[in-house]
Amino acid sequence: MKRNKKISTIIKLLLIIILVIGQYLYTSDQRGQTEENKETSAKDTDDPLMKVHFIDVGQADCILVENNNKYMLVDGGNNDDKDVILDYLNRLGVKEFEAIIMTHPHEDHIGSIDTVIREFKVKKIYAPKKEHTTKTYEDVLNAVIETGNTLNAPKSGEKFNFGAVTVTFLAPSRDYGNNLNNWSIGIKVSNGKHSFVMCGDAEKEAEEDMLATKLDLSADVLKLSHHGSDTSSTKEFVKAVNPKYAVISVGKGNTYGHPSKSTIKMLKNNKIKYFRTDEQGTIVMISDGDQLTCNVSPIP
Ligand SMILES: [Zn+2]
Repeated sequence: MKRNKKISTIIKLLLIIILVIGQYLYTSDQRGQTEENKETSAKDTDDPLMKVHFIDVGQADCILVENNNKYMLVDGGNNDDKDVILDYLNRLGVKEFEAIIMTHPHEDHIGSIDTVIREFKVKKIYAPKKEHTTKTYEDVLNAVIETGNTLNAPKSGEKFNFGAVTVTFLAPSRDYGNNLNNWSIGIKVSNGKHSFVMCGDAEKEAEEDMLATKLDLSADVLKLSHHGSDTSSTKEFVKAVNPKYAVISVGKGNTYGHPSKSTIKMLKNNKIKYFRTDEQGTIVMISDGDQLTCNVSPIP
């Protein structure tokens, strides 16, 4: 009896500690949001030049958005990609991030985020409110705690700005249980002239929910979810985004068969020009507020 009581007290204490840490990691961000918006002065928003770098990290995602020397990182490749990512960021002269978005807790999206968080100052980190049990996820959480950062879980429809760029959260809009892909944070990034939609590895169900939000999903560029897998990019979703270009972030000879043949066929049927990192390396798309250009030509 006594022993049972002791165990139950310990369990209660552990639960309280977990809850406190949870509260601490996920801060309510209403106040931060207004302060940040105030910081965005007119001179920051002058130049619409926006570069979106789909960094070649093999079978993984790592996307850098750049405007007026301000940067946002969406996902951070696998654990093994840290040198590639750090080299890339250092070559550009990145010193800090306005925001880092971890779309969902799979290794191919958060693998090197711990390293990035330790190396660079970050104003705000977004992650869906879904934990994972892997060492990779634990490493990221430790980096978040040790660097004094917190995690923010965005709601669909919420927005923030940096420079001339507006980021609108499209997803997640509900609980997806243990389907981590569907927990992916989806965003639309725009400089007022051109926009990009990228939704991590969101699958069919999450795409349906994004359609149901009635948010404006239309964009010039769609980063295909889940590395071009046929679990994503439904006819309805692609129709709503109605992109001119698609980008597939995918590893050469990956064992998943990404991108799927049906996805490529769908792109061709819809006359959507596409780029892929396994064949073309890092893809950099540039909007100067007038024209949208790319460092490479679309796949013929
Ligand atoms: Zn993935």
